[in-house]
Amino acid sequence: MADMGLVVVGAGGRMGQTLIRVIHEMEGVVLAGAVERQGSPALGRDAGELAGVGSLGVTITDDPLAAFSKADGVLDFTAPAASVEFAGYAAQARIAHVIGTTGFSADDEAKISAAARHATIVKSGNMSLGVNLLATLVKQAAKALGAADFDIEVLEMHHRHKVDAPSGTALLLGQAAAEGRGISLEDNSVRVRDGHTGAREAGTIGFATLRGGSVVGEHSVILAGAGERIVLSHNAEDRSIFARGAVKAALWARDKKPGVYSMLDVLGLN
Ligand code: NAP
Repeated sequence: MADMGLVVVGAGGRMGQTLIRVIHEMEGVVLAGAVERQGSPALGRDAGELAGVGSLGVTITDDPLAAFSKADGVLDFTAPAASVEFAGYAAQARIAHVIGTTGFSADDEAKISAAARHATIVKSGNMSLGVNLLATLVKQAAKALGAADFDIEVLEMHHRHKVDAPSGTALLLGQAAAEGRGISLEDNSVRVRDGHTGAREAGTIGFATLRGGSVVGEHSVILAGAGERIVLSHNAEDRSIFARGAVKAALWARDKKPGVYSMLDVLGLN
C-alpha cells in the first residue's frame, strides 16, 4: 500500500511541530499538507523548516479543504472550535480525522459525532500507549476498591501555556474510574474546591490541577483508604509519545468504517 498522506493542522503549534517531525521519521506515512489559521506568521513557510527537519516541500496554508482533498488523513491538535470545523471538512473529503484537541463542550462533542457519520474519527484526550494502559488499570482498581472504603482523586500538572483544566487526560482517567465504579463522571465529579467545602462526599471523584513551567504532562490517580493509599501515575517526558500515537491512530483508521473511535480501540485495550 502507498504511504498514507497526512495533513497536520495547527502546524505551527507545540504538537503540530512535533507531529511534522514524527511523520518525517516514521515509516508508512508522508506529510501531505500543513494548515494554520488565517493571519498566522507560519503561513507560507515550509513545514519541515518550521519544525526543524529541513525543507519537506510542503508550504503551510490557511486553506484546509484544499489540503484535505489531497490527503488520506488529518492529525489535529488545535482548539475545540477549530477541530469541530475540521471534522466537517474531513467528513466532506471522506478521510480519517485524528483529534487530540481537548476542552470540548457537550455541543462540540455532538457536532463531532454528527461529522462521524461520514468521517472515521479517532478522538482521545491522550494518544500515548502508557496513559491508555493506565486508564485500564484505573478502571480495574476503581472496581476492586469500592467507594465505601476508597476515595478517588485525580491530580495533574502541565506547562504554563495550557488553556483548559482539568486536562483531557485527567478527565479520561476520571472517566475510567467512573466506569470501574459503574457511575456517571458528570454527576459525581468535584472539579474544584475552595473555601469551606464541608467534608468529602463518599463516591465522588475529585480533580486537582497544577500549572507551571514546561511540564509536558503528569497525572496521578490516588485511591485513598483508611490507613493506605494506592497511586497510579504516568509522567510524559516528551510530546513525541502523543504524536507517534496519533500517527498510529491514523494508520489504524485508514480502512475503518465512519464513526468515533478511541485510542483504546486503536491499541486493542477495549
Ligand atoms: P498550541 O501550541 O497552542 O498549538 C495549537 C495550534 O493550533 C496553534 O498553532 C494554533 O494557532 C493552531 N490553531 C488554532 N486554531 C486554528 C485554526 N482554526 N486553524 C488552524 N490552526 C489553528 O497547543 P498544543 O500544546 O500543541 O496543544 C494543542 C491541543 O492538543 C490542546 O487542546 C492540548 O490540550 C491538546 N493535546 C492533546 C494531547 C493528546 O495526546 N490528546 C497531547 C498534547 C496536547 P494560534 O497559535 O495562532 O492560535
